[in-house]
Amino acid sequence: MLYFVEFGERLHRSVKSIVPTHTVLEGGGFQVRRPVAMGSLMSPFLLLDEMGPVNYGPKQAIGAPSHPHRGFETVTYMLQGSMQHADSAGNSGDLNPGDVQWMTAGRGIIHSELPHPDFFDAGGVMHGFQIWVNLPAKDKMMEPRYQDIPSDDIPTVESNDGKIWAKVVAGEALGAKAVIDTVIPIQFIHYRMREDSNLTHKISKNLNCMIYMFGGQAEVSGKSIEDGQLILLTEGEEVQIKSTEGAEFLILAGPEINEPIARYGPFVMNTRQEIHQAVIDYQNGTLA
Ligand code: MN
Repeated sequence: MLYFVEFGERLHRSVKSIVPTHTVLEGGGFQVRRPVAMGSLMSPFLLLDEMGPVNYGPKQAIGAPSHPHRGFETVTYMLQGSMQHADSAGNSGDLNPGDVQWMTAGRGIIHSELPHPDFFDAGGVMHGFQIWVNLPAKDKMMEPRYQDIPSDDIPTVESNDGKIWAKVVAGEALGAKAVIDTVIPIQFIHYRMREDSNLTHKISKNLNCMIYMFGGQAEVSGKSIEDGQLILLTEGEEVQIKSTEGAEFLILAGPEINEPIARYGPFVMNTRQEIHQAVIDYQNGTLA
């Protein structure tokens, strides 16, 4: 291995496993595509939900009414449709196509995630992602914070040959750096590859990394990956992706948090006592 490092070649990540997705109902009953056993697959990612795409008729769109969170972060990335978030601290914001909301629940937040009233009335296609990022014990009870970033403020970059487009939600890709500040080091990149394109994506070797394919087809380190598959990668400094027909996917990377996980619904802590306390705080009205 040292040989390759000395001669300036980077260590390639390969495919450790390919995880299928299944369709489940979340929140008030909206449809999501979710990798099987997602909660235990790869630190620090607790959940990866592809919301839709669903084509709603007028007054049919469904969201997640008021509910609490403690101990981690929820990241919402909209592709189509429009949502409106509101929380117990009086924050509210709209999420339109391309927008990101990075919410650090920390010690506690109670919020609702609903279709925007205009979208609800008109109907249309809803498509997006929600990702849960765990926090280490020392940050679980931090003050909650919001980063509502409109699409125009999120850096995008294209490869020199114009065949690869990336939106840099967190971390860095093709020389572009994200504007979102994360508590722990996270890479969250949305890639689109056109026909007959090649990508080498760099990832710090200290981070776990996975790829979620949601359109087209690609070869990741030589293995053929289809729409609706999650790919867990081995360690390394970069991954090589090749697409003949075009592909669309997210690359997610983050550190191994080597701590016990105690989870109950919308609370993710380290011990059962901490979960019990979260439930009591919520019932007492002192969570948020
Ligand atoms: Mn929520």
